[in-house]
Amino acid sequence: MLLEKQRVELIRFLLKAQEMGLIPLTFGNFSLRDKETGYVCISPSGMDYQELKPEDIVVVDVNGKVIDGTRKYSIETPMHCMIYRKRADVNGVCHTHSVFATAWASTELKLPVVVAELAALVGGKIDTAPYQPMGTMELAETVVATLKEQDAVLMANHGLLTVGVDLATAFKNAVIVEEGAKVAYYAHNIGKVKVMPDEECHRLRQWIINKYGQ
Ligand code: 13P
Ligand code: ZN
Repeated sequence: MLLEKQRVELIRFLLKAQEMGLIPLTFGNFSLRDKETGYVCISPSGMDYQELKPEDIVVVDVNGKVIDGTRKYSIETPMHCMIYRKRADVNGVCHTHSVFATAWASTELKLPVVVAELAALVGGKIDTAPYQPMGTMELAETVVATLKEQDAVLMANHGLLTVGVDLATAFKNAVIVEEGAKVAYYAHNIGKVKVMPDEECHRLRQWIINKYGQ
C-alpha cells in the first residue's frame, strides 16, 4: 500500500487527539506530507476514528488530486493543501475544534499568551482568522493569509489549526495551544491577566529551539 507507514501514523495521532478531547466526534482533520514523494495523507471526511484503517486515509498531491484511496477526503483538504503549497517548512497540519481554543476564537479578544510553554512552542502571538464557513475556499484563504509564517492560527467560531515540521510537532502545538487557551481562560476569570512580554516570548522560543530536551 502506498505510504502505509504514514497512513498508520496519521490514524495514531487522530485517535490520540480524540482521546485527549481535542476533536469532538469527527470535528477536526489531520494531514502529513511525505517528504520523499511530496504526497499528502489526509483523514477521510466524517468517519468514526475508531473504525479507521490505513486504506481509509486518502493520499492526494499538493493540488488536492487523489493519488490513492476511495474515501471522500476531509472537506478541509483544500486548506491543508494550500498550506503545504505556501509553506515548504511544513509537513504536518492539525485542525481541531478543541474547546478552549475555540472559545477564544469565538470572542473579539485576542488569546493572551500567559504560559511559558505556549510562548516557547508557538511563539508570542496567535492571530484569529475571520469566520468563513467550513470546507470553503474562502476559509482556506483566510486561514493561510492569517497564519503567515506562524505555527498556529485560531479560526473564528470554528476551531484551531496548527502546523509543524512534521505531524508530531503540529500535534504538540495543538496540545499546547489548547492548554494555553485553558490557562488563559481561568486567569481571565480569576482577575487581571498578566500577559507574557514579547521579548520573553521570543527568548523562550529561541531557548526551546536551541537548548531544550535531549
Ligand atoms: P471533515 O470530517 O470533513 O474533516 O470535517 C470536519 C471539520 O472539522 C470541518 O471543518
Ligand atoms: Zn473544522
